[in-house]
Amino acid sequence: MQIRMAWLGCCLGAIASGAVIAKPMHSVASPTVIVDAHGLGEQGVRDLTDAEGVLWHAEFGSELLLGVQDASLPSWLARDDARAGPARLAFDEIVVRDHVCTVHSPETPLAVVGGYQILRRPPALVRATKGAAIIGEPLPEDGVVARLAANSALANQAKGANPTTARIVAKVDAARWFEDVSGLAAINRNSFSDELPHARDWLLQRLSDAGLQTGTHSYTLNSSSCGTSLPDRTLDNPWGFKRGGRRADEWIVIGGHYDSRNAVRCDGVSNVQPGANDNASGCAGALELARVFRNVPTERSLLFICFSGEEQGLVGSLRYVQDLIAEGRMAQIKHMINLDMIGHAVSDNLDARVETNNAQEALLAVYATAAATYAPELNLITSAATQAYSDHWYFLSQGVPAVFTWENGAGIYPQYHSVGDLPTAMLRAEAVAGGILKMDTAVLVDQAIASDLLIDNFEGAVH
Ligand SMILES: [Zn+2]
Repeated sequence: MQIRMAWLGCCLGAIASGAVIAKPMHSVASPTVIVDAHGLGEQGVRDLTDAEGVLWHAEFGSELLLGVQDASLPSWLARDDARAGPARLAFDEIVVRDHVCTVHSPETPLAVVGGYQILRRPPALVRATKGAAIIGEPLPEDGVVARLAANSALANQAKGANPTTARIVAKVDAARWFEDVSGLAAINRNSFSDELPHARDWLLQRLSDAGLQTGTHSYTLNSSSCGTSLPDRTLDNPWGFKRGGRRADEWIVIGGHYDSRNAVRCDGVSNVQPGANDNASGCAGALELARVFRNVPTERSLLFICFSGEEQGLVGSLRYVQDLIAEGRMAQIKHMINLDMIGHAVSDNLDARVETNNAQEALLAVYATAAATYAPELNLITSAATQAYSDHWYFLSQGVPAVFTWENGAGIYPQYHSVGDLPTAMLRAEAVAGGILKMDTAVLVDQAIASDLLIDNFEGAVH
């Protein structure tokens, strides 16, 4: 009661001044529980977050984190779908991070919830680092970092499949994709490895075999992010280009990084750095999509590109975006799909994510519909709270409608950034990657092919 009245007084002043209002329960440190969110539905999530004894909540897609009253903790922990979270934690001291490819952070996470790593930080520091895109972000005000499409208004988005789209989607060959993952994983692809050019040529050959015009975008990588001084290197982003028809000047970029690492990020010495899931899986995904669109006439042009230097701070994609800007061609990019770690699912739920930022939030419904219609085996998780942790970031920062489609986070993959990141370590690889690639194919059809061509199904064109 006390808190409530005092809070009411101050918030009226704050509303008048437009200040950010910290919800009262957000500053209360309490015991926490982590609850499985699969199958709850929109109302089921609300019933849980509004339940007696819940002080605050955060949603991480496949799991919920609840701050609960001490007295209610035993009954929560007695549930089959719940497990203990961090002992005492307040909403506003939580920092969320994932896929820490790009940052050198020794901090051990408090817990992994829904594939996301959560850290504790003094609330003032949490607020101060909001949006700094350094090591993690605070929780969004509503606590929703990510949400299962099935637990949101995006549930049941399946629509009648378009026959032509379905025929193109059916061309996705997950076994062929896995072969490429194995091929790339056999090459040491650290950005500082002398073997990286071999991987570049391996990719160029396959992009050419897919009927594409090929080339490389080159740039210089320095060792500023390595924590040790190493000579600068000239690196390449190999690409394959499919020219469109009526709107050939409008490009869609499909990318994923091909460089790898173990525990040491800039390691030109260790000769086994397989990076099968991170990220032979994503780069091979771009290659598979190139094959899927072979012989499919498109209005817009498609650029399939694998970036290097990602593990050193998204350098390859940053340099590519900087050159687009320098050449006045940034506006030419109409859509971007980033694939990074698409090959691991811990359960038959086949959880997968589509992430973007608030400005492009409308894309989440597009991907949810595509998944529900053409890859219903996926349990899609949507998030408008993406961070600077993979190659979609600099496209997004230039206002490009860009998404990151991948597995349910890096925190679920035990062999992350290790010599054990082998094709055999990826669970349900073809099932989850196949689903993600089918979803992306369906959206690409909508983005690249004019609807009138889709309507008349151009029977002869797709084979
Ligand atoms: Zn990666």
